[in-house]
Formats: sequence, structure tokens, C-alpha cells
Amino acid sequence: MTSLPIYLQNTLTGKKELFTPITIGEVSMYHCGPTVYNYLHIGNLRAYILADTLRRMFEANGYKIHQVINITDVGHLTANNDEGLGDDGEDKIEKMAKASGKTALEIADYYTKVFFDDIHALGVQTAGTIFPKASEHIAEQLEMIKTLEEKGFTYKTSDGIYFDTSKYADYGKLGNINLKGLVEGARIGVNDEKKNITDFALWKFSATGVGANGKAVEKRFQEWESPWGVGYPGWHIECSAMSAKYLGNTFDIHTGGIDHIPVHHNNEIAQSESAHNGSPLAHYWLHNAFVNSDGKMSKSKGEFTRLVTLMEKGIAPVEYRYWLLQARYSSQLQYTEEAVYGAATGYKNLVAHVAKILISSNDSANTKDVAEAKDTVWNEILALINDDLNTPLCISKLWDILKDDSIEGQTKIEVIKKTDTLLGLDLIKNANVQIESEKASLVSPDEIPDTVKDLLEKRKSARAEKDWKSSDTLRDEVRDLGFEILDSESGQTLKKI
Ligand code: AMP
Ligand code: ZN
Repeated sequence: MTSLPIYLQNTLTGKKELFTPITIGEVSMYHCGPTVYNYLHIGNLRAYILADTLRRMFEANGYKIHQVINITDVGHLTANNDEGLGDDGEDKIEKMAKASGKTALEIADYYTKVFFDDIHALGVQTAGTIFPKASEHIAEQLEMIKTLEEKGFTYKTSDGIYFDTSKYADYGKLGNINLKGLVEGARIGVNDEKKNITDFALWKFSATGVGANGKAVEKRFQEWESPWGVGYPGWHIECSAMSAKYLGNTFDIHTGGIDHIPVHHNNEIAQSESAHNGSPLAHYWLHNAFVNSDGKMSKSKGEFTRLVTLMEKGIAPVEYRYWLLQARYSSQLQYTEEAVYGAATGYKNLVAHVAKILISSNDSANTKDVAEAKDTVWNEILALINDDLNTPLCISKLWDILKDDSIEGQTKIEVIKKTDTLLGLDLIKNANVQIESEKASLVSPDEIPDTVKDLLEKRKSARAEKDWKSSDTLRDEVRDLGFEILDSESGQTLKKI
């Protein structure tokens, strides 16, 4: 383990705090995962870049990682008001299944696969990460609801079992939610049976009988027996039940998008801490800011930019990742094509720079000097990432290191490799691809036409005489014949244009 301190901006306290793990040398993290009823948009993906950056930062500091990302495949109800407080809307997966003539399982399986394709394309590391599905943890959720019932935190209405938020004294503590404001802003008649506007469903009963349209209510694809009747879990309970199962009642870090602070995460805290006699759910809460796009980044409204949309525009996933990492996870980003194209150009320049260093670095450097210099330079980058994941400064520091003539080539390569692993940017891999493709396009001496050979000889003499004007004219003449001259210490080589 490194001895460098790690600082994280904790939404729970509103402060940047020194990270102290529950178990020395280990970190346990729960990240709210996707609701698999539709594709993820590029904004959603930022949440998993945050999870991945945290993981890579802890790995760089020598920590053992325990990581969970849940898959919401049941129970995420559509909000019935702008505050997202609804428990009366439809289950997103069931709604999509019915609309597309598929089963809930087909919908969930398909979009779960696309989720993995997207995060793998972005270089999110998943080895060892647990991805529990809500639908496969119904028993654990029922257990937790029973515990809450026994402790007096629940009540029953005609449509389900609800959590009584007035029984949990600290309700709304995450992000200091203005409960009075919520009450005043609440729409009338949302659910008259709820005792408090902030109460939420733990278990919903499957509807039966005749619906508002006069027809028999359609049977749900996903429903289970429970002590209170056939139904399905509310959304929040899955995170409380599954985090407890895989990480324990209290773990180190919980993350999600900022939209989760007011409702979902405060509900998770209320359930878990009430069920576990006040043990804190997580010590540190981190939230990623949104990627905005003129209001067009909404999964539920169906109009959004996906990772493959970017790829169709010629932007590689790693270039999108580079764009994201140029801002800290906690700053809001405005997506425009120009901005991401700009980042793609920046990334390509970085790769080209790395390729140059790989080609020209001096293999015979003293390994002891390299090791010492590497540690000093690397620690500067590590200190930046340890400062609440300051990825933009890590990237600009990397640029400074690459351009610094006082740092020896081998040292640069060692630091690039470590920074590459830290940020997941595939710099060495893509630089090698570039080097190989350049090599492949080099023209072998016996393929060079005689006219070009003559021009090369003339240019060699002109350069020996420092006649740069003639040298440039000759380069242009060679280019007109279809070849690019590359100058190196070993002389002139040619690339086909
Ligand atoms: P969902 O699949 O809708 O539950 O969302 C997955 C994750 O994306 C959650 O952590 C959300 O908080 C997050 N999220 C939703 N919209 C955006 C956005 N525009 N930018 C960044 N993160 C978002
Ligand atoms: Zn959650």
C-alpha cells in the first residue's frame, strides 16, 4: 500500500475528507447500477466511469477491491411527478416489455447485455465485480421488509407496504434535503393513503380486477408471493438488501448520479439504517454530476445519444472516456459534438506523443536512476488522483511530463504505463498500433523508384550543407511522386501516401 493520503468529497458531510477504510488495505464500494429497460445514454455511462476511476485509484494505492454494481431488472417505477417521488407509476421494465411485445426477462437480458458491451468498450474493469440482479434477490428483500415491519417502520395501504419516513429521525440527511420544501411543493392526490409525502413503497401488490379502461388488469411478468400478498419490490429496497448481502451492513463508499441524492439514496439510508439498528449504510457518498445536452439526455423520454451514436460519428469510446476525464466527476458537462471531437483530437495527439517517446527512448538508461525518478514523478500524479479523483489535473500533468526535456525517456515510459492503467486510456496500446501501422506503411529500399532515389541523394547533400530551402523543395518533389519522407537519426525513410 502507498502511504499517500486519499481525500474524497463526501455528500454526507458536504466536506472533502481523508479516506479511512473500515478494513486497512481494503475498500468496499456499492454503485447504483442501470435500470435495464432501455439503452444507456452517454450521461448514464459517466456513473460507471466514476466507479471505475475510484477502483483504479484504489488499485494504484495498493488496495484490495470489493465492488458491487446492481442491475435493476424489476421494481423501478416511473415517477409520477417532477420530484421523482412517485410509487404510483408503472414498472419501467414491465412497461417496455408490454410496449414492445417482449417478456420482461427478454427486455432485461437484452439491455443488460448492451450495458456490459458499453462499459467494456469504455474500458471499465469488471473482473471480480459483483453484478447482482434485483429479480434474483427477492428473498433478501422480503427478509429486510420483514425486519422493518417487526421494528415498526412500515404500514400497509391498499396498494402495498410502505416505509414510514417519519419514524426515521434523520430522514433526508444526505445532501440536507429540504423536507419542508418537498411537502409544500407536493402535488395533491398523488397517493392519499401515504402518511407522509416522502414515504415510499417497499413492496407493491400486483393489481387485479378491472383497470381504469374497463378491461381486466394484465398479469405482470414478474411477481412473487410474500407474507402480504403477491407483488413485487419497490425500487429502493434492492440496493439496501443486496449491499448488505455482498458488502455487509456498513461499507466504505456508495456512489451514483446526483439525481439519486434526494430520493433514492436517502431512502436506501432510511431502510438500511433502520433495519440495522442505526449502523451507517456507507461512510462516504460520492455523486457524479450530469452530462447535459440541451435537455436531450433522458432515458425515459427515449431521445438520447448512445455510445454507438458517437462511434458512428467517428469518436472512439476511449476518446469519449478522455473527454469525461478532462473534467472532475463532480462538475457538470455540456455535451456537444464539437467538444467531444476536440477531445478526440487531443487524445490522438497524446497517443502520437507517446508513440514518439516509445520510438526514441534510450533503452540503455540506468535502471536504478529510472526507478527513482519514476517514483518521484509518479507520486505527483498519484497525489492528484488521490485528491478526490482530480483526473483533469492528472491529464495535464501527464502532458507536462511528456514535454519535459529534463525527464529521461525510460522514466517517461514507466510513468506513462502507470498513468495509463490509472486512467484506462490505452495510450501504450494505441501508440504501439500507430507505430506498427507506420512501420507497415514504410517503403523498403528496393521498392523505391530510381527517380525518387536521386531526389533523396540530392536532399541528403542539401541537408549536409544545411541548405534547408532546397531540402524542403526536394521533400515536396518526392511528395508529388507519392511518398512522404521521414527523417530519423538513421537517415531518410519513406512512407507511401
Ligand atoms: P438509470 O439506469 O436511469 O437508473 O441511471 C443510471 C445512472 O446514470 C444513475 O446513477 C443516474 O444517476 C445516472 N444518470 C442519469 N442521467 C445522467 C446524466 N445525464 N448524466 C450523468 N449521469 C446520469
Ligand atoms: Zn441504488
